[in-house]
Amino acid sequence: MQFDVIVIGSGIGGLVTATQLAAIGAEVLVLERYLIPGGSAGSFDREGYRFDVGASMIFGFGQNGTTNLLTRALEAVNVSLEVIPDPVQIHYHLPNDLNLKVDRDYEKFLQNLIAYFPHERQGIRRFYDECWKVFNCLNSMDLLSLEEPRYLLRQFFQHPLECLGLVKYLPQNVGDVARTYIKDQQLLKFIDMECYCWSVVPADMTPTINAGMVFSDRHYGGVNYPKGGVGQIAQKLVEGLVRFGGKIQYQARVTKIIIENKKAVGVQLANGQIYHAQRIVSNATRWDTFENLLPKQEIPYVEKKWQQRYQKSPSFLSLHMGVKASVLPNETECHHILLEEWEKMADPEGTVFVSIPTLLDPSLAPTGYHIIHTFTPHWFADWQGFSASEYEAKKEEAAGRIINRLERIIPGLDAGLDYLEVGTPRTHRRFLGREDGTYGPIPRRKLWGLLGMPFNRTAIPRLYCVGDSTFPGQGLNAVAFSGFACAHRIAVDLGFSG
Ligand SMILES: Cc1cc2nc3c(=O)[nH]c(=O)nc-3n(C[C@H](O)[C@H](O)[C@H](O)COP(=O)(O)OP(=O)(O)OC[C@H]3O[C@@H](n4cnc5c(N)ncnc54)[C@H](O)[C@@H]3O)c2cc1C
Repeated sequence: MQFDVIVIGSGIGGLVTATQLAAIGAEVLVLERYLIPGGSAGSFDREGYRFDVGASMIFGFGQNGTTNLLTRALEAVNVSLEVIPDPVQIHYHLPNDLNLKVDRDYEKFLQNLIAYFPHERQGIRRFYDECWKVFNCLNSMDLLSLEEPRYLLRQFFQHPLECLGLVKYLPQNVGDVARTYIKDQQLLKFIDMECYCWSVVPADMTPTINAGMVFSDRHYGGVNYPKGGVGQIAQKLVEGLVRFGGKIQYQARVTKIIIENKKAVGVQLANGQIYHAQRIVSNATRWDTFENLLPKQEIPYVEKKWQQRYQKSPSFLSLHMGVKASVLPNETECHHILLEEWEKMADPEGTVFVSIPTLLDPSLAPTGYHIIHTFTPHWFADWQGFSASEYEAKKEEAAGRIINRLERIIPGLDAGLDYLEVGTPRTHRRFLGREDGTYGPIPRRKLWGLLGMPFNRTAIPRLYCVGDSTFPGQGLNAVAFSGFACAHRIAVDLGFSG
């Protein structure tokens, strides 16, 4: 069968590409290896609880500007989703009693931070105001393919100052910007954590463009939780895709991208089925795309170069818990970050991430109970080579250590446990189809901001990549951006639009 476009994978990057193309009349087929859509943004049900696989702090659901890409992606295929505003992005529990809430209100957040570092009052404001400048540039223009010269030209004539602003920020990292305004070492460590908790690298390796988005949008469109669980975003996109004539097939694991005359022309599934299309899009990671779906020995030179600049980040150890509501202290927030020693921020089991989405949407758990999803970085290599019983024992020990640490912010957690499921890097690899269960690419060393992240076209004609191993990186709103850009580039290449 011949399609205009085949998308391998139904993560948010893949689904945004597919829906954008279906909406303009392209014949699109999405092939998903698992039973449900969403990838790292899926949800699963257990014993009356609905858990999010990964993401739960969601940007991109604002109503204004152009950076609200999840709202826009759903609207493009005539579907919508009720979202619940989160009044606090994160409650940080950090070393030296730095116990701080990032309020949705910008001024309130600044005042909370200034209360800890009054001598840096001016530096704090100047640093975060600079992030707003980045955001305002992005939020004034349509976010489409930077590989499309006519679009770039159009944007330049319509928004010359904003474009020049972005060109200035593109090669910068947050650490350098922060040090221009801030001298206090503790405060700089806090900025490291502000970056690490979504980029999984410190400020020196985090591109300023991404930080501009996160540090400002949390006070603009805000963090919003989709009612019914994060998996609803993918479910709604699939509904829209089908409404516009697109197709999706589950349990359809692509094992090979078919190349003819050096061009990508189709895919082969694990069951031997073959599909052809004019364009092939891979929503799998770059490592999976170029080392597993294509012959590893023929990896293109530009991909080899990319791998010299970027490496796989660690995966996570995840605990999905159902707990008695009585264990949560009054005024507990939805998202928490816990770290006891700054030196351990990027270590395995250093930083602990916590999400309690039932505080926003109680329908995700039986009455009288909450869900808690907590996760912490772990390397795939540390989970290999065990017998089944050793693996189970190691999971139990690791879960015990995390629960002990969480008792500091949720006293009585262990005693209040009703349900516990532990996922390891092996689980992430198995269910998300991501090599080594990685969260995504991270720089091997300090790079020039976002300049090294590849766009959607690849060295192989007619093959595109979308998702977190393309510009601008990890996070749902970021992969949605990548999806908009990928669909735009393909639409132009196929003659659907200019
Ligand atoms: C624990 C955790 C917490 C996170 N928290 C947040 C958060 O709070 N906020 C936020 O914005 N982001 C968060 N993220 C990051 C965010 O979830 C990801 O960056 C994003 O979902 C990645 O989307 P994607 O489209 O690139 O790919 P993926 O989500 O990886 O989807 C790829 C899809 O392709 C399918 N696939 C792969 N290979 C094949 C194949 N060969 N054949 C067929 N199908 C295939 C997979 O099954 C999967 O469905 C978190 C991630 C994790 C793991």
